[in-house]
Amino acid sequence: MTAVADLMDYAEVIERYDPVLGLEVHVELNTNTKMFCGCPNVFGGEPNTHVCPTCLGLPGALPVLNGKGVESAIRIGLALNCEIARWCRFARKNYFYPDMPKNFQTSQYDEPIAFDGYLDVTLDDGEVVRVEIERAHMEEDTGKSLHVGGATGRIHGADYSLLDYNRAGVPLIEIVTKPIVGTGERAPEVARAYVNTLRDLLRALDVSDVRMDQGSLRCDANVSLMARGATEFGTRTETKNVNSLRSVERAVRYEMTRQGAVLAGGGTVTQETRHFQESDGTTSAGRTKETAEDYRYFPEPDLVPIAPSREWVDELRKTMPEKPADRRKRIQTEWNLTPEELRDLFNSGAVDLVEATVAAGAKPGEARGWWVNFLAQEANSRDVELTTLPITPAQVARVTELVASGELTNKLAREVVKGVLAGEGEPDDVVETRGLKVVSDDSALLAAVDEALAAQPDVADKIRGGKVQAAGAIVGAVMKATKGQADAKRVRELIIERVGA
Ligand code: ADP
Ligand code: MG
Ligand code: ZN
Repeated sequence: MTAVADLMDYAEVIERYDPVLGLEVHVELNTNTKMFCGCPNVFGGEPNTHVCPTCLGLPGALPVLNGKGVESAIRIGLALNCEIARWCRFARKNYFYPDMPKNFQTSQYDEPIAFDGYLDVTLDDGEVVRVEIERAHMEEDTGKSLHVGGATGRIHGADYSLLDYNRAGVPLIEIVTKPIVGTGERAPEVARAYVNTLRDLLRALDVSDVRMDQGSLRCDANVSLMARGATEFGTRTETKNVNSLRSVERAVRYEMTRQGAVLAGGGTVTQETRHFQESDGTTSAGRTKETAEDYRYFPEPDLVPIAPSREWVDELRKTMPEKPADRRKRIQTEWNLTPEELRDLFNSGAVDLVEATVAAGAKPGEARGWWVNFLAQEANSRDVELTTLPITPAQVARVTELVASGELTNKLAREVVKGVLAGEGEPDDVVETRGLKVVSDDSALLAAVDEALAAQPDVADKIRGGKVQAAGAIVGAVMKATKGQADAKRVRELIIERVGA
């Protein structure tokens, strides 16, 4: 075990250094098939069942380019305000690792399909940071190794390793930023907001399911520090395995405080990859970084170059979704949100769900309330992403409809939603089977009211004497007697009627 690294106080890091960031995001495309063969592109599956001679790298097998993959790459490039290459090629990136059966990754090197773009990122307080995009290029994913027997799941200490090539050859787009400078103490927040904005954009493009938890969106965070006022960048580290938005922010922050301590102690930062540990928010050294020369890149001889026609690019330009910043503005105006409400909504990752719920007939405020509060908490306590909760926007909309029509109280509505989440069917089924309808039959309510009044004669007297607010105690008793299934407003009316106040 390595010793715990010395860390510099964050405020001191900011006082003495300027952080520089570089973010590399890999996104798996949601094409039906892999990038260079006809194998299905689906997550998981029995190991080594979605493979063929091409993605297993068997001798003599030849790649065939997936046109839909190229289309998605161009659309991503356009959405990131990039130039689209008039002509580009694939390249072989040569290295050995058991999860890559061909011994080279088919990638792009100095001729990416898209380059020189930008993405405007809105921070929590509304400040907009423009992140320059260096390039977005096409490549293929590797397989997966499973290291069995060790305590950490890493290769060190493992007894043996298993290989699953189902993911080998899945289409990937790597999006690389130019160095991001000048963000100062907000660097960790900028990193997180960038990945969040990019994720929303990719989701809107419908090119990927962007599941960080399943690895279809992955971020490597490059971080370096330079002394205040210096003109040359410091040495960077590249932290891998950062698979949640929160981790992106934590990893950048941790690296800043670690590198600050190294530099202030007279040491030098080693250029290396590092691993992020979710458990304690630290990073640990991986391999020292190879340089481009180590990969012996050369043009891929088995694939023809790609020359997207300008007509095609213009056609694809027409399919661009609304820009993230425009969308924020539109949603804020349409739903009349304060800046804080807007921020919470976007940070919750529920915008699409809320929009779909509104489209299914719910009022914006109610749709927001369900997703940002109640359902976000449910997702949190189950440790899953909000989008994977087993409830649909249409079901949430139906629940709000039942509340609006008076058939459910808010409390009952939460029970119904819990029932849907538990797999008990549609909201109406849950109401039926759990017997959750509001008791709207006055005679049943009156019986409960009379009983409560009889049990608390002193309170009844107070109400009769004009102290209407004392009715609260009786309402409470009736709600208890009806297990919360009464409409509190109607109960109050009946109490007043009954005592004749
Ligand atoms: P690699 O092949 O090492 O991953 P890339 O060019 O793909 O290199 O990505 C490096 C990333 O780091 C880019 O986003 C780049 O802008 C950024 N970067 C380059 N130099 C620095 C530095 N000194 N500090 C922080 N980030 C840097
Ligand atoms: Mg890279
Ligand atoms: Zn295949």
